[in-house]
Amino acid sequence: MESGFRLTLAALCAVSLVQCRPASPRTNLLLIVTDTLRADALACYGGSAHTPNICGLADRGVLFEVAYANAPWTPPSAASIFTGNYPTAYANLSSGPSYAPSFWVSDEEVLLGEALRARGYDVGLGSMSVLVRNANVLQGFEPLPQPPDPIDAALSGVAKTGEYLRSHDGTPFFLLEWFMDPHAPYEASGVLEQLEVDPSRLSRPLVFYTTLGHQTEPRMREHAPEMSDYELSVLRRLYFAEVERIDEKVGNLLRVLDEAGLRQSTYVVFTSDHGEGFGEHGTFLHGVSFHDELTRVPWIMAGPEIAPGTRVEMPVSLVDLMPTLRDLLAVDCLNDPQGRSLRPLLRGGAGTATDEPGHAHYLASPDKLIRGMDAVVDRNYKLIAMLNGRVALYDRSEDPGELHDLAGERPDVVSRMRAELGRIRGEKDARRGQNFAFRTEADKLEVHERSLRGLRALGYVE
Ligand SMILES: [Zn+2]
Repeated sequence: MESGFRLTLAALCAVSLVQCRPASPRTNLLLIVTDTLRADALACYGGSAHTPNICGLADRGVLFEVAYANAPWTPPSAASIFTGNYPTAYANLSSGPSYAPSFWVSDEEVLLGEALRARGYDVGLGSMSVLVRNANVLQGFEPLPQPPDPIDAALSGVAKTGEYLRSHDGTPFFLLEWFMDPHAPYEASGVLEQLEVDPSRLSRPLVFYTTLGHQTEPRMREHAPEMSDYELSVLRRLYFAEVERIDEKVGNLLRVLDEAGLRQSTYVVFTSDHGEGFGEHGTFLHGVSFHDELTRVPWIMAGPEIAPGTRVEMPVSLVDLMPTLRDLLAVDCLNDPQGRSLRPLLRGGAGTATDEPGHAHYLASPDKLIRGMDAVVDRNYKLIAMLNGRVALYDRSEDPGELHDLAGERPDVVSRMRAELGRIRGEKDARRGQNFAFRTEADKLEVHERSLRGLRALGYVE
């Protein structure tokens, strides 16, 4: 399998890694991504889930009030999170078996994990989602070892990362924890009793609601639109219960970090890859639109240089995450991504160079569900481009629920944002030429097989 071509590319990568400037002091990084968490579920974003640990992180750092995922489902969003580029650059448009990975970051792209590993960091993986792994964004990461049983209750849900932190030997680290919940099904195991659901007000047994999810996605899409308000409120409470369980896991991690004396020397980032719909625009689960319930996510971070209690109002998106982290960790050896460093916003106080009213964020998802649709968001508006060439325009501040399409009433805004959309689409097309999906047919088949096994395990496919 080792061709001369491959070796040459590996050598080129090595050269660019060697050029990475050694930073001092070498600050640690703990990146926590939780799947499917819409921002407005969290108390610090005005939501009703009780999330003292996540919101406590915001108190000692920065909270981005309007943060967008660049796609409404995992693989393209993960591609943006880890590369700092819009997801369309990584779309695998080649035909292949169904359930082929739709997004793929080529090995030739040098990611932060690889750059930090080359500089002597431990780059470790705790929990992980197979959908993320299959986008090939975990370059540079190695799985952390599973600690011996029985697992310490204090490390519940975060055993690998927790144990690493507890026995930390001073090597700088970049750790990634990707929690699958609150992804459907909303099982809320262990806390169902406390939710005090009234079975007489449900048209089916409670277990029907706690097992709706990807395995039973057609059932969810069929039944949810006909549910009563009470039934929908039960679905939401089950989801919130899962969010609260994630908050406990985050709390466990932060406690171990503190006990190990690592708080002052570690950037902690908390975010999600996309949101979840509960019928706001007639849809449930995710992946099917660019409305806020599917695309607005939490983004909170704390660490050296970040002023406690900072709130940033200007819209940002997750393509800005890697550029920001690279900037903070002084990694200056990687290619320029489409996202921008938000470092100037982290010290509190008023706006900065990045705070431009016209700066727009691009949302796209060229997959089988909404192939060809995309959207652009700026400080005031969101423009969604439909498959039929029509567009919808929403005023973000006057109409946060996105219920009134203003496209017919504000043609000047539409044409300005269409132009912005065209500009970003052109930029992404130029980038796609630099990326290629799979090096060989054998690579492709291997990834398809792995993907299929993982998707089966998750219940996405039979
Ligand atoms: Zn996801």
